[in-house]
Amino acid sequence: MNYTLPEIADIIDGKLIQPPGLVHSEIKTVITDSRTFSGGENAIFFSIQGPRNNGHNYIKELIAKNIRAFVISEEGATEPGAAFILVANTQKALQKLATFHRKKFWDPVITITGSNGKTIVKEWLYELLSGEFKITRSPRSFNSQIGVPLSVLLMDNVYNLAIIEAGISQPGEMQNLVDIIRPDIGLLTNIGDAHQENFVSHEQKTKEKLQLFKSAKQLVYCADDPLVKKLAGEFCTAHSIRKVSWSLQGNEGFIQFRAQIGNNKTAITATTKTGNDNFEIPFTNHSAIENACHCFAASVILKPDKFEFLHRFSLLEPIAMRLEIKKGINNSLLINDYYNSDFTSLTMALTVLHQQAKKGFPKKMVILSDIQQTGIPPDELYKRVNHLLLEWNIDEITGIGPEICANAKQFSIPGKFYTALSDFEKDFNREKFRDSAILIKGARKFTFEKLSALLQRKANQTVLEINLNALVNNLNIFKSRLNSGTKIMVMVKAFSYGSGDTEIAKLLQFQHVDYLAVAVADEGVELRNAGIQTPIIVMNPELHSFQHLIDYRLEPNIYSVELLQDFIKSTSQNALQNFPIHLKLDTGMNRLGLKTEKELEKVISILQSEKSLKIKSVFSHLAASDEKAFDEFTNAQFSRFESAFKKIASQFNYKIDRHILNSAGIERFPEKQFEMVRLGIGLYGVSVTGLPLENISTLKSTISQVKTVRPDETIGYGRKGEVNKLSKIAVVPLGYADGLDRKLSDSNGSAIVKGKKASIIGN
Ligand SMILES: *Cc1c(COP(=O)(O)O)cnc(C)c1O
Repeated sequence: MNYTLPEIADIIDGKLIQPPGLVHSEIKTVITDSRTFSGGENAIFFSIQGPRNNGHNYIKELIAKNIRAFVISEEGATEPGAAFILVANTQKALQKLATFHRKKFWDPVITITGSNGKTIVKEWLYELLSGEFKITRSPRSFNSQIGVPLSVLLMDNVYNLAIIEAGISQPGEMQNLVDIIRPDIGLLTNIGDAHQENFVSHEQKTKEKLQLFKSAKQLVYCADDPLVKKLAGEFCTAHSIRKVSWSLQGNEGFIQFRAQIGNNKTAITATTKTGNDNFEIPFTNHSAIENACHCFAASVILKPDKFEFLHRFSLLEPIAMRLEIKKGINNSLLINDYYNSDFTSLTMALTVLHQQAKKGFPKKMVILSDIQQTGIPPDELYKRVNHLLLEWNIDEITGIGPEICANAKQFSIPGKFYTALSDFEKDFNREKFRDSAILIKGARKFTFEKLSALLQRKANQTVLEINLNALVNNLNIFKSRLNSGTKIMVMVKAFSYGSGDTEIAKLLQFQHVDYLAVAVADEGVELRNAGIQTPIIVMNPELHSFQHLIDYRLEPNIYSVELLQDFIKSTSQNALQNFPIHLKLDTGMNRLGLKTEKELEKVISILQSEKSLKIKSVFSHLAASDEKAFDEFTNAQFSRFESAFKKIASQFNYKIDRHILNSAGIERFPEKQFEMVRLGIGLYGVSVTGLPLENISTLKSTISQVKTVRPDETIGYGRKGEVNKLSKIAVVPLGYADGLDRKLSDSNGSAIVKGKKASIIGN
């Protein structure tokens, strides 16, 4: 995009407040999230007020990063040195700008909505059609009321096809998106249970989603769901839309598919009036087959060259935009992203590099392949890449590929360039990457996974894989149950419940959680050394660690009179004032905490005359918040907590926060959220009330050997494993020493092998 500031003010009906003498260049990018922006002058920031975050709070920080143009809705938010456009509602203004921008794009726009599979269908369509079209598409899963306009604003005349993803979580939202997107080809993936809590029925939700396609010319849908078939069919007839329906089960439709599931792959035949087409996908699960059928149906409308296009199905990858973080050699950190290589996803990946590098890794390096299919001339493209790397303070680039190599002169940051991966391998120097955070980003054909293997610390074939996207999803589900002002403390004790030491804390800091909690001081020191600035509370502060608490600004949980007295010795020696502490009350758990009236009075009287400390919060822990049978007990804990708090608060003339809810408490007693809550196991995917949380971790290993076992033989220790027919038994190099609980013996646990469940046999 390319607009002047007065043009934008005009388009969004805003009042331009421009200090005299401030000259403005063209506006080329729109930003709504200060964290994913590194600097630069051609940007405008829309200060959006979300349920938990207010964009207006980041204006000063962004001026420091050189942004000179802002859209605001709070009159008092202006600052010297920048121009402002004042509007009534910044989100609506963003949507207006996108609506205007959309009208300048003449080429086909495919729009995908539905409950599941939107992002994967979008990414697959991109892979399948990239050979013939120059495509712009929604970044990641930008499908919301803000994500859709941002995606539309990426449309540009260098492209000749746009693929936009749209999602809704509430009735009424689709109407806002209709004018912004104005799709030519609609695609409805399926209707499942996502966001069902906000809709009265599947029928209402389906009808709402269909609204998006009112002005479309063609609509792709699956005729195997009777509800979709009926509603989409009626909708198309009512709005004169061509029906591109398909079926895998022989239902009436424009395309008939037949799927033959084999070993590791599925052969699919598509039958239309003009004949049969055959293709193969490297998956066997139902949702992949369904997604592939959607992709075929949407693509044939655009009449691609059949030979190339059908072949590409066999090359599809599971999740196209997955990023991996791994420990590398010589204390390095690897961020692997070798599925995508476009410009937008480079920005995203640099954000992750920045977020993970922090203090722990003094150097930031990028290994980059040729960037493909951008539509931008190569010299211009690599100039832009160099600019981006400069903005993110990257220390060094390694470029691999003929095109990036030919454009080496566009880079002003230090770098080395190779035409092929084999040249890099010959020149490989392990020392060079010491103490670095390294982003490895390449298009698939450059096979950067080999490069990553060179840099990866040699590890067991067994890994516990943590899905950080799932973790953010879980965090947001809990956030959505809280009032907008309630703070969140996240428990990252014991290496984030066993799922990583600093990576999760870095992600949580990026997500603006208010507090992190660790068990002992050493864990807190490690987080501070990794660059975590979020306030940290230490649940079990040990005597010998007090100096660390003070030096690293770790806030102790004070749970006894003795602990308080000991800690005061340290704070007064350090001549501190108002060092934050947290008082823990024992209201029934009978673990750590001040229990008796006498203890509480003593603590109050000590603190009243002690200037070196300040009570930041008073808290307690619920013993049985997940069990309905004990709700009476839990309620008694609440009232003990509240009356003890009153007693404390009345003795101090400053504000003190309260918190008592753990994960199950947040789910079951949201009315007791007070000023803060403490989220623990819920973040890691466990819900007691059936919240739609995602599993965040997967233990993966390999099969070392396969045995054929007869019924007269036994398997394993104590001869516990028996079979009743000739059976194939896989041996996996994994046992209780690796954390696989022995209780999972004897079919209590199982593994997934190529998508099928296989029980653990024997001990
Ligand atoms: C671990 C812990 C929590 C979190 O509990 P979950 O049940 O995992 O949510 C909360 N508060 C304290 C004091 C804890 O130690």
